[in-house]
Amino acid sequence: MAGHSGAAKSDGSYQGIVYLPCTAENRFVPEPPKEHVDLVYLCFPNNPTGAVASREQLSRWVDYAREHESLLLFDAAYEAYISEREIPHSIFEIPGARECAVELRSFSKNGGFTGVRCGFTVMPKSVVGRADSGKKLPLHPLWHRRWSTKANSVSYPVQRGAEALYSSEGRQQVRSLIDHYMGNAKILRDACAKIDMKVFGGINAPYIWVKTPAGLTSWQTFDRMLRELNVVITPGSGFGAQGEGYFRISAFNSRENAEEVAHRLQSLS
Ligand SMILES: *Cc1c(COP(=O)(O)O)cnc(C)c1O
Repeated sequence: MAGHSGAAKSDGSYQGIVYLPCTAENRFVPEPPKEHVDLVYLCFPNNPTGAVASREQLSRWVDYAREHESLLLFDAAYEAYISEREIPHSIFEIPGARECAVELRSFSKNGGFTGVRCGFTVMPKSVVGRADSGKKLPLHPLWHRRWSTKANSVSYPVQRGAEALYSSEGRQQVRSLIDHYMGNAKILRDACAKIDMKVFGGINAPYIWVKTPAGLTSWQTFDRMLRELNVVITPGSGFGAQGEGYFRISAFNSRENAEEVAHRLQSLS
């Protein structure tokens, strides 16, 4: 984002970034690359595909990071949406992660804080990087310096709001909000499956990732859904080249709207 990776190429990808295949064949969970990378960004449960990584898959990433001295950035914004027992909620459930991983958490999706702007980062004191001199140094002091000089975090009222999410009443409200969205996800997922669309996600994430009808691009599908059904979906190609041929349906809506969309989908010609 800061432009340090290198120039953009004609296909929209950037020099200096290794892109991993996220395809239906690997259920949108890529294996670590063969080559060395400095930083790895992983997001599970994933936006936009709704994919989750198993303990074994995450272990392979932690092993990779330790072997290559890479830093894993683990975006767990949708952690609260995991419904399957065996799926890890945090990268720190994986042995060895405390030496190589940083986890990003947000209140945007569990507590409906989108726009309120509050989240947190888990930066273990045992995470180290290698300096130019070859010396291993902990990243925590750099992180702390950054936060205590460049920013002083969110306002006090917002912090109190975030704190309230951990009260017993707050926990219950978060739980029922997530259950509500996941109820929508099931309705939308089933509606797509009923008209023989190929669906992914929607079980451990509030997103349903759907293959576009044969021969249609993401944007062509967007146009048809808008014109024929008055329904807005998100074209997969907007998330990157590999999203072409897919679209994302979000479960963040009222039950009434989810049911109405499920109904209208049945009349898609
Ligand atoms: C919404 C979202 C977040 C959270 O972002 P905030 O800046 O905390 O609102 C993080 N990662 C992903 C993939 C998201 O979709």
